[in-house]
Amino acid sequence: MDRLSQLLRQLPQVDELLRHPRLAEVVAPLPRSLAAGVVRRTLAEIRQRLKAAAPADLPDQLDDEALFRELEQTLEAAARPSLRRVINATGVIIHTNLGRSLLAMECIERLIEAALFYTNLEYDLARGVRGSRQDHLEGLLRELTGAEAALVVNNNAGAVLLALHTLARGKEVVISRGQLVEIGGSFRMPEIMVVSGAILKEVGTTNKTHLHDYEKAITSETAMLLKVHPSNFRILGFTKEVPLPELVELGRRYGLLVVEDLGSGCLLDLSRYGLEKEPTVQETLKAGADLVLFSGDKLLGGPQAGLILGRREVVARLRANPLTRTLRPDKLTLAAMEATLRLYLEESQAVAAIPTLRMLTRPAADLEREAQALARKLRRRLGDRVQVKVVPSQAQVGGGSLPLAHLPSRALALNVPPLAAHQLEARLRQAQPPVIARVEHDIVLLDLRTLLPEDHGALAAVLERVVKGIGSRE
Ligand SMILES: *Cc1c(COP(=O)(O)O)cnc(C)c1O
Repeated sequence: MDRLSQLLRQLPQVDELLRHPRLAEVVAPLPRSLAAGVVRRTLAEIRQRLKAAAPADLPDQLDDEALFRELEQTLEAAARPSLRRVINATGVIIHTNLGRSLLAMECIERLIEAALFYTNLEYDLARGVRGSRQDHLEGLLRELTGAEAALVVNNNAGAVLLALHTLARGKEVVISRGQLVEIGGSFRMPEIMVVSGAILKEVGTTNKTHLHDYEKAITSETAMLLKVHPSNFRILGFTKEVPLPELVELGRRYGLLVVEDLGSGCLLDLSRYGLEKEPTVQETLKAGADLVLFSGDKLLGGPQAGLILGRREVVARLRANPLTRTLRPDKLTLAAMEATLRLYLEESQAVAAIPTLRMLTRPAADLEREAQALARKLRRRLGDRVQVKVVPSQAQVGGGSLPLAHLPSRALALNVPPLAAHQLEARLRQAQPPVIARVEHDIVLLDLRTLLPEDHGALAAVLERVVKGIGSRE
């Protein structure tokens, strides 16, 4: 018999493996049929690999230890939820790929209550008749922003689509060339415009758009002047944008709606915390926009949602659009959003309790202290197998907010010999829980601005396992 056939014969049977004491711990949590499927697929993969290998590369004996390790890994992976916690050490606060904003602790109780019990989601308790799920947030949003009316949908992309579809389908929307943004690859203003049925009228140039550019574009077919916050980029140098009040004045003169897509949706004046000034929702409404649209999970720091605030008649038109039904937020979103908005009733409470705001406003001196403490902890626990140094770093806001803001931060520069930076980065990313680090100039950095106090212990444990794994895996 040739070597390949011999090796294939040495592979154990599925049943044998499922009963094997070595795998008992990883098999136990899985339903029998699922575990059997995983083992079968893993064996099939190993068979494939053996068949594909050059005869000279085939081992004499099947490596039992490697076989069990692979089975352990695939069985463990099958038991793990797909969507799960990671440690964000990137320093990017509103990291879209890592779930954007974390919810405040105050949201959790509301989420649990809304999940485990029936609620008055669409029930008017005073009158005993059907109510609207929108009623739970509208009062708060009006109180916080001075808006006449509010509508909450699934996300801001949906809010933009809904506004264009309701107010400008078959009509023209005038927008500056400098504001035709793409956000996160799949949201592009010109494409949303097409889907909504509105007709895009670009005016001005990439860097400069004047009021007369807007005015010249207005025809009997125009329905809306749209301003879009250039969330994730800035045009620097010789630039000109028309301030909202001037656009509002022009809109009034021609009887056109003026809508601003603010993107981030900041309710606080961030310049009070040493950050770049973002136009707040309140200011935008005050400047006279008919509608203001923004995300719930960017600078607001709440759950994913699209918030639509503005004039009563305009919001009422949006509500009456059947498309609104397809974009409705679920009860968990509403519960978390209400809890988040309530925190804003007291600014100091919002900044202290909403993780996005807390991370944004933490002084660098705090981060320095925390970085030193964490570095000491890691050195104590791991000795000289891990080299840790505290270095200055630049964190970012992320989520297409304040793209130029570099938040002074501190990072741990990690070196775990003999691993190269990209190897260490990969080991951290594939650990449990995964640690998402940044690599700069071939150095692995863990930025303190996005690390949570709860992450410190888990991070130390992950590093310990990485260090242990070096001996056994190489
Ligand atoms: C982020 C963003 C959107 C999309 O918002 P989502 O809540 O992610 O759907 C739309 N417009 C602007 C200007 C944005 O910054």
